[in-house]
Amino acid sequence: MSHAVWGATIVRKRPEMWWAAFIGALPDLLTALYGLIRFKGKYLLYMSNLRLTANKDDTYFKVYYFFHSLLPISVVAIVIYFMAPSYLILVLPYYFHIFLDVFTHRGIWGTRLFYPISNFHFHGRDWWKNRWISIINWSMLIVINLIFIFV
Ligand SMILES: [Zn+2]
Repeated sequence: MSHAVWGATIVRKRPEMWWAAFIGALPDLLTALYGLIRFKGKYLLYMSNLRLTANKDDTYFKVYYFFHSLLPISVVAIVIYFMAPSYLILVLPYYFHIFLDVFTHRGIWGTRLFYPISNFHFHGRDWWKNRWISIINWSMLIVINLIFIFV
């Protein structure tokens, strides 16, 4: 959710802002789309059982790593650069999503920056286990947007 707001905050231009919000959430949306197609009505059940069954070799995690890697989005960015350079700004929210996830995920959810070439990842802090991450994240969004509106 905050990824979408960050996307809109970074790009700020209308009507691209709504696309930026959508693209900011895209790494998670694409993973969820895969989950819905694969598990259909049992997707929520799969997600709720992950604490016990999570396995990084499961295709679900491979899809998650792929969409959170710098490599696929960079290929897309290069294509956009040559075909429609004026839209290049719209890949920024996607990169920013990956950047934030590096620091707010660890272990099996850790962001594999160069997947599928490498499994390298930092050990960030899981945001859902540290409510201060959400408090700081949303506070920064509010402050930055207030600065843009009033300064
Ligand atoms: Zn993500």
